[in-house]
Amino acid sequence: MKILVINAGSSSLKYQLYDMTDESVLAKGLVERIGMDSSIVTHKPAGRADVTEVSEILEHTTAIRKVLGLLTSPEHGVIGSVDEIEAVGHRVVHGGEYFGESAVVDSDVKSKIRQLFDLAPLHNPASMMGIKAAEANMPNIPQVVVFDTAFHQSMPEHAYLYAIPRVLYKKHKVRRYGAHGTSHDYVSQAAAEFLGRPIEDLKIITCHIGNGASITAVKNGRSIDTSMGMTPLEGLMMGTRSGDLDPAIVPFVMNKEELTVNEVNSMLNKHSGLLAISGISSDMREITEGMQNGDANSKLAFDMYEYRLRKYIGSYAAVMNGVDTIVFTAGVGENSVVLREKVCENLTYLGVELDKELNAIRSGEPRRISSANSKVEVLVVPTNEELVIARDTNRLVQGLKS
Ligand code: ADP
Repeated sequence: MKILVINAGSSSLKYQLYDMTDESVLAKGLVERIGMDSSIVTHKPAGRADVTEVSEILEHTTAIRKVLGLLTSPEHGVIGSVDEIEAVGHRVVHGGEYFGESAVVDSDVKSKIRQLFDLAPLHNPASMMGIKAAEANMPNIPQVVVFDTAFHQSMPEHAYLYAIPRVLYKKHKVRRYGAHGTSHDYVSQAAAEFLGRPIEDLKIITCHIGNGASITAVKNGRSIDTSMGMTPLEGLMMGTRSGDLDPAIVPFVMNKEELTVNEVNSMLNKHSGLLAISGISSDMREITEGMQNGDANSKLAFDMYEYRLRKYIGSYAAVMNGVDTIVFTAGVGENSVVLREKVCENLTYLGVELDKELNAIRSGEPRRISSANSKVEVLVVPTNEELVIARDTNRLVQGLKS
C-alpha cells in the first residue's frame, strides 16, 4: 500500500510518500509560502535529482494538486498514477480530550477538530485546510488523522490538571495536553525494542529537543506526565519559547510595558528562549559555536537550557520512582554531543554513566551512549513522526477493509 503523509501548516505543506511493503520513502518534499507572491516547491524523489520550482500557489488544494503532479510526472515522479495512493495520513496538532488515538476522517472527526480551533488557533485550522485539500484532490480514498496530543491522553488527572479554579477546566478545558506525542511514543517503543525488553516493564524518560522541546515520563509504555501544557509554551527552554516561568510575570510585564495579549504571547513564543538569552540565535549549533568561541551570553543560554532539561529529568525520575532509560531525540537531542555530555555529567546520583566515545559517534540508528556499568541506559533514538503517521494510517485503513 502507498500512503501519502501530509503535515499542513498555515502557509506550508510537507509531504512524504511511503511504500508500506517495506516502509520506504518514495519521495518527500515541502511547499512553502502558500498564499504568498511566489511559492516554492521542493520535491525530493528517491534515487532521482531534487527539484525546486517557484510558482503561484494560493491555497492548499492547489498545493496538493501540484504535489500530485510532481509525484506522477514522467521526469520527477515515482508513481504512474494518483490511483496508486491508497490512503492519506495527516498530522494534526491538537486532538483535545476527543482523541486518545488516531482516527479515520469522517464528518464527526472533522467537527471535533474544528471544535478544537480555540485550543490550537495556529495549528488546527491549518490541519483542516490540509484535510480538505486532500479530500478535494483524492475524494475516494480514506484519510486518517494522527494527533500530537493523543499519546498524552493517558496522563492521570493529578498530572494534567492545573491548580486553578476547576470551573476553567469544566468550561474551557484548560488542562495539560502536551505535544510531540507521536515522537515520544515512537522513540519510547524504539528504545524498548533496542534494549530487547518489554516496554511494559520500563520507566523511560524521553527528551524530544529540537526547535520546540518537550520531555515525557513514559511508564509501562504510557505517558504519565509531559512538560508541554495546554499549549506548547510550557516546560523546557526552547529556541524562541520561554518554557516555564512565574505566571505572575505575564500581567506584571503587560502592565509595565503596556503590552497587549497578542504582544505578550508573541514575546513568550517568538522572542524568548535561547534567542533572548544569547542575543544571537535560536539555533543550538550557533549557541554552541558562540560558547566555544568564548561568548558569555551563548554560554549562559546553553547553561540555562541544559540546567532546565536536567531539572525535568530529575523530576520525572521522581514521578516514576526511578528511571531505567533516558532517550535523546530530535535536532538537538540527536546531534548535540556536548549537550548530552553536560546533562549526563550531573545525573550520576541516578546511576547514569556516560561513555564519552559512544556519545561522540554519529549515526542515524538508535544507539546506546551510556557505559556498560551505567545503572540507567542512555540512548539516542532518531525520531520519525512521519513513519508513525504512515503506520497508523496503514493499520486503520487495513481495519476498514476487514
Ligand atoms: P523542529 O522542532 O523544527 O522539528 P528539529 O528537531 O529539526 O526541529 O531541530 C532543529 C534544531 O536542531 C536546530 O534549531 C538546531 O538547534 C538543532 N541542531 C541540529 N543539528 C545540530 C547539531 N549538530 N548540534 C546542535 N544542535 C543541532
